[in-house]
Amino acid sequence: MKLPDQLTSALCVKCQVPSSGQTYPFFFGNKIGQSDRHLFAMPGQQRIEITTTYSIRGQDGAFVCNSCVRSYKRRHWLAFLIFFPASIVLLVFAYFVWNRTGESPIRIVSLVAGLLGGVGFFVAVGESLKYFFEERGEVGSIIARDSLYDDFSANGFDSLFTPREIRHMKKKGKV
Ligand SMILES: [Zn+2]
Repeated sequence: MKLPDQLTSALCVKCQVPSSGQTYPFFFGNKIGQSDRHLFAMPGQQRIEITTTYSIRGQDGAFVCNSCVRSYKRRHWLAFLIFFPASIVLLVFAYFVWNRTGESPIRIVSLVAGLLGGVGFFVAVGESLKYFFEERGEVGSIIARDSLYDDFSANGFDSLFTPREIRHMKKKGKV
């Protein structure tokens, strides 16, 4: 007999349908400050890095069903399936237009297509990383966090985080 993903069944915070899934943790808190750091300054050019720090006020959890977790993954896979071929087509198109048109102003078309293709390619790579490497637990926490954001902000908490985001911010000294 094949066991379901989880034996627990409850109302899913996202789709509001009772089904099998599990409770995923997330954290809530507030922005408490910003610091600006000038990375480099040259005449007429400077870059400022703004670091926001947060105070974590507590932890909560929400039940997310397995099919919402799967459909999150599926959405990123679909996005990859659209962006990847589209970006390749644009890049190939840009390459041929550039080579066939000599010095003509039509080359601008090639530049625009090449730029769009490049951006599309990076989006496709990002989407495929989300599909292949985003852990199930993290996905559940992302869905829980996004579904409850409005409730928490109505109660005075302006920032919600997944456990991985908390670990990342701790490393950077933001919490
Ligand atoms: Zn659901």
